[in-house]
Amino acid sequence: MGTVSVWSQRSFPEKADLVVVGAGIVGLFTALFHKRRFPAHRVLLLEQGALPDGATTRNAGFACFGSPSELLADIAAEGEAVALARVEERWRGLRELRTELGDGPIGFIPCGGNEVFLHDDLYTRTATGFDHLNDLLKGIFGRPVFTWKDDLTTRMGLRFDHLAHTELEGALDSGGLATRLLSLTRAGCVEVRTRIAVERLEESADRMMVECANGERIMAERVVVATNGWARQLLPDIDVHPARGQVLVTGPLHGTIPQGTFHAEEGFIYFRDLGDRILLGGARNLDISGETTLDDATTPMVQEHLERFLSDRILTGHTYTIEHRWSGTMGFGTGTKSPLVERISDRVVAAVRLSGMGVAIGIRVARKAADLLDGRA
Ligand SMILES: Cc1cc2nc3c(=O)[nH]c(=O)nc-3n(C[C@H](O)[C@H](O)[C@H](O)COP(=O)(O)OP(=O)(O)OC[C@H]3O[C@@H](n4cnc5c(N)ncnc54)[C@H](O)[C@@H]3O)c2cc1C
Repeated sequence: MGTVSVWSQRSFPEKADLVVVGAGIVGLFTALFHKRRFPAHRVLLLEQGALPDGATTRNAGFACFGSPSELLADIAAEGEAVALARVEERWRGLRELRTELGDGPIGFIPCGGNEVFLHDDLYTRTATGFDHLNDLLKGIFGRPVFTWKDDLTTRMGLRFDHLAHTELEGALDSGGLATRLLSLTRAGCVEVRTRIAVERLEESADRMMVECANGERIMAERVVVATNGWARQLLPDIDVHPARGQVLVTGPLHGTIPQGTFHAEEGFIYFRDLGDRILLGGARNLDISGETTLDDATTPMVQEHLERFLSDRILTGHTYTIEHRWSGTMGFGTGTKSPLVERISDRVVAAVRLSGMGVAIGIRVARKAADLLDGRA
């Protein structure tokens, strides 16, 4: 859509009951849930990209709730109650996601999840806390979640000594997820408009004014900001900062390649098979401040680290090419990995800060945002 004339702006301001900003998993589900509850409401979903262009379509497609070393680090940092409540939300979220969208359309594969260990000290710390972690998780899953399966590493050609496995995680097709969710949202009569960047929100006693970069102004009863890593552009005071995640994908491979999803380094590195290719991502911890950015570039420092990891640990002896590289923007908070779902004012709800696990928790964040809108939360 082009720019808007002053006459149109003055004479034909658009009106909506709800404007949702950002068409990622959170914005799409929030708009859909609200419309289901209030079918007569006009719900507009505004997305700056030509398509949903945030982390939802740029992630690795892990349907996961946390690897052992990551969960132990979360418990050490935030305490058992907070860390376990988050695991429970992720687990509930994964099941709700599969029910809402269906395993077929999202390409869900129940391949299990694995953690491998690069360094002895992280392995030793994880092994020390392993049984206690499993005991804690029994309260959520009703059974032990992680088992040691070191023999799998050699069977899959991996160069690691130790591997912790859970049957409860899986992989999915993030493009399929976004496509399915977008079509359900449209079928649910939410008006989705792409290439519309919201520049400013202005609140008055009787309405919100949503100002878009193309000059369009929309009057709304309420607004949900679901822009995750970009959240501070519209809500400068909230605790969310961008965090870039970088990924690479190989060309087709021959011979044995690892199957399933894998984490290393407390979740900072991850890889999985994509059919006959390997997707590998992460290593943001090499340069946390440099990767605190909205710039969607890839960098030699991170990409070279990932390539070394690939050749030394995952695909030793294979000949391959790298066919794709990309980055995406996540939203993190200070000292917490919990999402921020809050009423910011009478008319504005924020549903952001998904950290690195929005696939699992996104639908739960959206439900809470919809509850806040209709006064249930
Ligand atoms: C490389 C990478 C790998 C990941 N891997 C996984 C994984 O395997 N498993 C997992 O669970 N999670 C993973 N994540 C995290 C997960 O993808 C995110 O937590 C989740 O997608 C966040 O969803 P969201 O809807 O909050 O945000 P997003 O999907 O980022 O959506 C926000 C949307 O807002 C739009 N927007 C921003 N500003 C404006 C504006 N002013 N006006 C209009 N629109 C705007 C953006 O274009 C974007 O489409 C990964 C993330 C990255 C980057």
